[in-house]
Amino acid sequence: MEYLFDRWGEVQKALAPGALLLFDYDGTLTPIVEKPEFAHLSEDMRDLLTRVSQNYVLGIISGRPLKEVKKLVKLRGIYYSGNHGFEVEGPRVKLVKQEAEQARPILEKICDEPKGKLDRVEGAIVEDKGLTASVHYRLVAKKDLEKLKATFERAVKPYVDLGKIRITHGKKVFEIRPNVDWDKGKAALWLIEIIKPPKGASLVYIGDDRTDEDAFLALKNKNAITILVSNEIKRSNAKYFVKNIDEVKTFIEKLINLGVQIKIKSDESVDSSRRVWNQTWPSRRSNAESDDRHQWGHCLRSFAQETRNRKN
Ligand SMILES: [Mg+2]
Repeated sequence: MEYLFDRWGEVQKALAPGALLLFDYDGTLTPIVEKPEFAHLSEDMRDLLTRVSQNYVLGIISGRPLKEVKKLVKLRGIYYSGNHGFEVEGPRVKLVKQEAEQARPILEKICDEPKGKLDRVEGAIVEDKGLTASVHYRLVAKKDLEKLKATFERAVKPYVDLGKIRITHGKKVFEIRPNVDWDKGKAALWLIEIIKPPKGASLVYIGDDRTDEDAFLALKNKNAITILVSNEIKRSNAKYFVKNIDEVKTFIEKLINLGVQIKIKSDESVDSSRRVWNQTWPSRRSNAESDDRHQWGHCLRSFAQETRNRKN
């Protein structure tokens, strides 16, 4: 893994308007905070995302529910994926992974049980996110950690043994998910298939946590620019790293400048950004229509307003 800005020469060569940028939310676009509800997107980050989305295709992939991440980011005409990829929405697509939806009553039952017990551990936050659930322990005192872990394990074990759910760990959080072979990596690959970036366009994925490793790994064969946000050296499937959110901002600023430069250059000969979009949009339509292949639940195609925004 190499420091992104040490390799900027090779990275920028690989980037062009039309590239697909996939960002994680917590710890990537906003700092990790004590309670999940405090993670608001700063106005300057929102402004950068707005500007970069003018020359690049933008998607946010989060562990939060889709509804919530949309409300926090507040940008129209971009792609959103929530609950670690189980929900996807964007121009012309709105999808929910069917198997996860089917597991919903089981998850609800599971959620109620640990909630009652875990709520008694001071500082634990049990978050029912619809298709998945989280137990945050950032605020739990060190002396209570073992108790919390034992209580959590007791509560989820019967369902894990039955193969109904699986548990993953993030930054001071246990994630309870339906036992479906789906993660941020598979959601990212699916999005790429839907969006069909123009030939030669790059894929970029930035994230800070263990769930993002699934995406780094899935994109390895795609020649993607995968970036881990971490202030310490650690093992990762990402190709590059940046140290913190300020450096994510620097990266986005560089993309904006690069997009403008390339656009000016290509405007002199041919309107390449229009060419990029002309290539992209029909492919998106045809893929959205063939969603049965992917066994997705439903697909609505009533996003005319978002499409108009994107084209303007
Ligand atoms: Mg994160």
